[in-house]
Amino acid sequence: DVAVCLFSSDLRVHDQPVLRAALRSARRVVPLFVVDRGVADAGFMAPNRAAFLAGSLAALDAGLRERGGRLVIRTGDVVAETRRLAAEAGAGEVHLAAGVSGYALRRERRLADGLAEDGRTLVVHDAVITAVPPGAVLPSGPGRDHFAVFTPYFRRWQAEGVRAVLAAPRSVPVPDAVRSGTLPSARDLCPDGTPSPALPEGGEPAGRRRFGNWQRSGLAGYQDGQDDLAGDATSRLSPYLHFGCLSPVEVVHKATGHGGAGAEAFVRQLAWRDFHHQVLAARHDAAHADYRARHDRWRYDEAEVTAWKEGRTGYPVVDAGMRQLLHEGWMHNRARMLVASFLTKTLYVDWRVGARHFLDLLVDGDVANNQLNWQWMAGTGTDTRPNRVLNPLVQARRFDPEGAYVRRWVPELAGVEGAAVHRPWLLTGPGRAAGDYPEPVVDLSEGLLRFKRARGQE
Ligand code: FAD
Repeated sequence: DVAVCLFSSDLRVHDQPVLRAALRSARRVVPLFVVDRGVADAGFMAPNRAAFLAGSLAALDAGLRERGGRLVIRTGDVVAETRRLAAEAGAGEVHLAAGVSGYALRRERRLADGLAEDGRTLVVHDAVITAVPPGAVLPSGPGRDHFAVFTPYFRRWQAEGVRAVLAAPRSVPVPDAVRSGTLPSARDLCPDGTPSPALPEGGEPAGRRRFGNWQRSGLAGYQDGQDDLAGDATSRLSPYLHFGCLSPVEVVHKATGHGGAGAEAFVRQLAWRDFHHQVLAARHDAAHADYRARHDRWRYDEAEVTAWKEGRTGYPVVDAGMRQLLHEGWMHNRARMLVASFLTKTLYVDWRVGARHFLDLLVDGDVANNQLNWQWMAGTGTDTRPNRVLNPLVQARRFDPEGAYVRRWVPELAGVEGAAVHRPWLLTGPGRAAGDYPEPVVDLSEGLLRFKRARGQE
């Protein structure tokens, strides 16, 4: 009379449908997390996410202990370890939330087959990584398995609504005989590389605190402030949503409850997240292959790519974003957009190069959101205006009008006042001499020409 609850991207006890289902089906439950070697082998483990994940697992263990349980940790191949543990615990069922990536689906299939061989059952629940599960709303028409355009998706998403929030279980009885294993450190999860210096704290309590503060002091002003680079007025909930420390269902319900334009705009962003997940769930290859338009005339200039990664392109607003990423493992959405446009449409470098760099650093790095936002910016994805180019100087004027974002992240220019900071090449005298800020890596009109040539628009 034992079931296993296999945690994945749902590292929480509140609104946890998989844990609740396991507790309903058996008297005792083994809450299991497998440090899956396959994730590391697939190149998806990176120091910043490892640090956040280590904190999230420790917090989940604490949350389960408050309820008389504990988290059981195993390391190795997720299928082999789960089978072994289910045998050891005498479990009849293993409960798991559906994933959306090709990797998750393969894992599910292997698990179902392996457990069936052992005479056990894998129970796969709706995906809990999104507010509305992928596939729950579909466009009409035969064979259409996902929405390719956001606006009609969003209308259906709103009409569908999100399921009710589940309370956290009062107690989680775990069989005594099962060995706990050791909670992994960030180093155990990712031995190579060093985490960025200013990462957020992982885990459900930290996520719930942040969401509480956000509802009190951020949400109402979200619509007005969401694009203000220096204002930093977004929720920063993305890593908590990525690891499932926060339930998107609960976030949508609570935010909607506040009402108003801020809440509406915020919920719309959460629907964007669901949108990308339902694209990936139907088109696994979109993680690496062009989703719609195919472009194969990308350039690759090592010096230009390195300048972009290091935040030394000579365009201060681009460099500010890239340096924020290095320092915090996070970047403002508006900055992500303009640095991605700069890489793919001004330097004309393949979006996969940028997406890889983001995944190496982002603490919220997520296959669905990252790859599909990159494809959007590169014009290979779901954007219905694939040829728009974001001019970094126009973006800077609109979204960092006083230059405060640039001064925060580019110390060489900290002494330059006002919007002049966006065009350091025009500075004379002491402003120019300040620090060794580089010349622009490419002229913007030359960049535009590259773009037009490659897209056959010349
Ligand atoms: P808020 O503005 O407070 O938004 C609330 C939540 O809505 C976010 O936490 C996020 O979960 C969701 N959201 C907001 N904007 C988007 C969007 N455009 N697409 C999907 N979901 C969104 N987001 C990731 O979570 N992981 C990624 O790997 C990722 N890579 C990106 C790469 C590029 C090139 C671009 C342009 C965007 C990327 N985004 C990614 C989307 C977005 O930039 C981040 O979700 C957002 O900046 C996170 O900050 P926040 O939590 O303060 O967002």
